[in-house]
Amino acid sequence: GARLGILGGGQLGRMTALAAARLGISCHIFTPEDNGPASQVCPMVTLAAYDDLDALSRFAASVDVITFEFENIPAASVAHLAALRPVRPGWKALETAQDRILEKRFFNDLGIATAPWAPVTDGPQSLAEAVAKIGCPAILKTTRLGYDGKGQVRLNAPGDSAAAWAALGNRPAVLEGLVPFVSEISVIIARAPDGATACFEPTLNHHREGILHTSSVPAPIRPQTAIAARAIAESAALALDLVGLLAVELFVLADGSLLVNEMAPRPHNSGHWTMDACHTDQFEQFVRAVCGLPLGDPSRFRAMRMTNLIGDEVHDWPLLMATPGARLHLYGKVESRRGRKMGHVNTPV
Ligand code: ATP
Ligand code: MG
Ligand code: MG
Repeated sequence: GARLGILGGGQLGRMTALAAARLGISCHIFTPEDNGPASQVCPMVTLAAYDDLDALSRFAASVDVITFEFENIPAASVAHLAALRPVRPGWKALETAQDRILEKRFFNDLGIATAPWAPVTDGPQSLAEAVAKIGCPAILKTTRLGYDGKGQVRLNAPGDSAAAWAALGNRPAVLEGLVPFVSEISVIIARAPDGATACFEPTLNHHREGILHTSSVPAPIRPQTAIAARAIAESAALALDLVGLLAVELFVLADGSLLVNEMAPRPHNSGHWTMDACHTDQFEQFVRAVCGLPLGDPSRFRAMRMTNLIGDEVHDWPLLMATPGARLHLYGKVESRRGRKMGHVNTPV
């Protein structure tokens, strides 16, 4: 079988490696984190920093194709790897997903709507201009490295600007108008090297304290809204010339229309329900796409709700394990810090 290199050692890498193993593909994990979720299940691990070019060279030499489960890999490292092996998805998808300004501009250039936004890259003055343009309430988000609602602060009135700017540590940001959404959905598409695509059905997402809490299918949306969501994912994957998976998070408005929130060029937390509800789950589909294998059938055979186990919630595992039908997935993280994703449970509904 092929040898797949994965940059990143978290739970997404772990579940990818487990799916790959089932297809006879062995994974080599590159991660700075000792004994992380992915390393625990992989025979080959390189423990090094993402900017260690010598370590990256040795890693590349040991695999046939390279992907990542963490998109904040430095540009120079991706370029270095891409000279040695196919890197899927490529730099354009990574670069665009790493920076909220590039990301919003990318969607808007495709004619796909986002929340109204303005860049805030030159300090308090540009924040004042952005607030004048967007109005309040609004959300200020760092352009880079935000996740689980970290690196975001709400502005209820223009007077909150100074405090918001300081709270983000004076980093480049975007100001977004607060969207009065009726629900949040996401859609995950796989794209193969020959351009073939396969899309999972849209999922309904609920967040708690900025962190994804549940993802449920079927999502209670109109058929036209589901079709529009798939079309957005399809056109974004094509425009990025993406090989692998692309997850797109969307806001659904009262009239059924959609705004893109953000994207991730990799498996996504809101696709974990596929593990116990689809003929091919997102991790197997990801492996198939990046290894140039035929894409599998993404269709769903049962209704499902995925619930994240965050922090101490993981201690409920004996109860969940005893619940008929519930499928428990634990990530092997040693410490259950507050806000940390420790596992998830898929419950048929
Ligand atoms: P993730 O863990 O999904 O990568 P993140 O830190 O990148 O999260 P976002 O997805 O941008 O953050 O925002 C987190 C959540 O905050 C959204 O799912 C949504 O519930 C809410 N939110 C973000 N932006 C807006 C907005 N412009 N209007 C209304 N709600 C928003
Ligand atoms: Mg995000
Ligand atoms: Mg998000």
